[in-house]
Amino acid sequence: MRKQIAAANWKMNLTIQQGEQLLNDIIAKPHDLKSHQLAVFAVPFPYLSMAVQKFAGKSNVFIAAQNCSNKKNGAYTGETSVEILQSVGIQYVVLGHSERREYYLESNQFLAEKLDICLANNMKPIFCCGEPLAIREANTQNEFVAKQLNESLFHLTAEQLQEVVIAYEPIWAIGTGKTASSAQAQEIHAFIRSHIASKYGNTVADSISILYGGSVKANNAVELFSQPDVDGGLVGGASLIAEEFVAIINALK
Ligand code: PEP
Repeated sequence: MRKQIAAANWKMNLTIQQGEQLLNDIIAKPHDLKSHQLAVFAVPFPYLSMAVQKFAGKSNVFIAAQNCSNKKNGAYTGETSVEILQSVGIQYVVLGHSERREYYLESNQFLAEKLDICLANNMKPIFCCGEPLAIREANTQNEFVAKQLNESLFHLTAEQLQEVVIAYEPIWAIGTGKTASSAQAQEIHAFIRSHIASKYGNTVADSISILYGGSVKANNAVELFSQPDVDGGLVGGASLIAEEFVAIINALK
């Protein structure tokens, strides 16, 4: 079975004390990760080491950065390289979140550079894609998402692509309380998988985890995750509440 993943995206929220308390609360609640299930916590940079230590020795739990540099190292003030992240035990990084695309003008081409540097160095990217409301209203979301995939991912080898987790996040559903219906999520996830298959073949496409993101909560996770092409979620707001996120972990297939 493909990996099923509950990924928390804390964004720029919580102090380190609040973050540590949240992780303690999550650890204290019953949650049972099967061998094909992962929990990932994308926490602010200064909390990475704390979070890594918190889950030391626990299998199937990973800490992620929310971004990384497209450069290997050097005079890039304020940036954080893959090598720096790995030196504190990080194995996953979120790339191309719509907030980074919108506020920091990250383009598909720029994200391709970040993917390259991650994959050349065994860092696993969680690559975000998804359309704004106007595109959904014009019913051109498939073309929009296909372009994001083509321009950021489709230069990769099949082996490299299989290291990537894709997170489909319709921008109109992020932090808005509006969730794509499970049918809408399944439809575009199936499209993403078929688009990958058209270039890389079914075996590769079937092996890639595609997460849904956009107002995933405890009360909609079971239905969303039960869709055949939805392999878990990337979760913002609800990942800041221990009971909510544990219920989301427990909703994984
Ligand atoms: C996100 O941050 O990627 C996200 C989907 O946020 P929310 O769950 O709050 O919509």
